[in-house]
This record gives sequence, C-alpha cells and structure tokens, in this order.
Amino acid sequence: MPRHKFADRKITGMQTFYDRFILPVMDLILPRTCIVCGKRLYTFEEHICTRCLADLPLTYGWSLSRNPMAEKFNGLIQRTACHDMQQASRLPAHIPYSHAAALFFFNSEAQYRKIPYSIKYHGDISSGLFFGAMLGKKIACSPALEGIDMIIPVPLYWSRRWERGYNQAEVIARGIAGAIGSTVRTDILYRRHHTETQTRLDTEEKSRNVKDAFGIRKKFPAGTGHILLVDDVFTTGATLHACWQAVRETARDISISVAALAMVSN
Ligand SMILES: [Zn+2]
Repeated sequence: MPRHKFADRKITGMQTFYDRFILPVMDLILPRTCIVCGKRLYTFEEHICTRCLADLPLTYGWSLSRNPMAEKFNGLIQRTACHDMQQASRLPAHIPYSHAAALFFFNSEAQYRKIPYSIKYHGDISSGLFFGAMLGKKIACSPALEGIDMIIPVPLYWSRRWERGYNQAEVIARGIAGAIGSTVRTDILYRRHHTETQTRLDTEEKSRNVKDAFGIRKKFPAGTGHILLVDDVFTTGATLHACWQAVRETARDISISVAALAMVSN
C-alpha cells in the first residue's frame, strides 16, 4: 500500500501548500488507497475512505464506564483475586474497577481487521499513529479516562522488537499520547520472555501462556496516579491482564486503565 513520504507533515503553512499543490500531484503519481476497502483515496481523505470511516463500528466504550471490554477485563481481575484468596485463605485487598476502551469492534470476517493487521505486519506506522490519535481524541473526552499520567504500551520481547523494527502497541500509544497530551514510557514495563503465538488458544491457555511474562524494571515516578496500558487488539484480555498484574504488584496505589485499537467481538 503506497504511502507518501511526507503524508504526516503537519506544519502550518507548509501543510496548506502540501495539501493544495503537492498532495494532488503525488496522488496522481502514487495513488493512496483506503486501508480497509483498498479504493483510491481522494485528496482530502487520510488512510481510510469516507465510506469506511462512516461505517467504522465504534465501541463508544470511552463514554460508558461499564462496557463489554471493561466487564471482560475486570472479570479476569476478579477471577484471579478469588483464586489468590482461596490459596492464601484470606480476603484480598480492595481492587478498584479498571476502565477500558477500544476504538472499534471487529470479528474475524470483518474487513476492519485490516487496520491492526496492516499496522502489525506491514509496517504501516503512519496508520498506527493516525488511528491511535483517533482513539486518543475519544479518550480525551472520557470522564473515566481523564488524568492519565503516563501511557505504557504492552512490550514485545526485545528480540521480537528488534526483528520487527517497532512495537505496534507503542505506535498506537504514541498516537494516543499526542492527542491527550501525555507521555509514553517504554522503560518501566518489560517482557521477560518470548511467548508463543496466542491466536489459537482459549482464555485459560492464554492466561497460562502470559502469566509472569512481564516485569517492572524501575520505579514509577513519585506522584503517578493513573496509567493507561495500551495494546493493539483486545481479544481475551489475558495479555493486558498480565501487564496489569506486574504493575499492581509493585504499585498498589496507581489506577490502571486499559485501551486497545480494536476489540474482537466474537
Ligand atoms: Zn474504504
């Protein structure tokens, strides 16, 4: 999918010149296409055509503190807490409700899966930042997700990060950070070991697969009250939950919310 070298240029003045003169010429030489349907984009469109954008199945999770993603995620937290309680034969400490939001739903047949797929496997960083910013603008209007001190993307194991050249969750996190005026930290949470591909595993198997996969490398800065963990796709929630556990073990007073670009709806 061709992408213009200067497609992300956002300099006032230059932007007008770029939009009016350079982009129309570039569109003739190297047409840009919609990430979802593959149709040629008009000059005023970016990454996704107007029709696909209008049909994007938004979750509206940012405006609902209780939504399918949050319920699923908090269900995992409660289940682990009950298990720990049975093991330790004592009541667990109060666990605050974690807020959660995804930008859109997709199922395995829907063509919208092409958005995270293109970001993850085709090096489409420009789309990652674009859709991350779209999610960030929704988060900026969410009362449940306000006051985020830092954004932490789900880390890749170092060798996987090196092989791919980037972390797709980090790209999305940077798009969100730009929209809500927060910072991305990749130096605190790390992945201890490489985990097998999770695509064909059920929730229990996924939870076992990622249990203890993440660790904390350094302390959170003093005054950190609310962090946002970010992944590209939310399926069972097992990966984000494993990150949540690693953070909670070292920082019990920090509120932890989660966000993903897409939530699998089947
Ligand atoms: Zn389209």
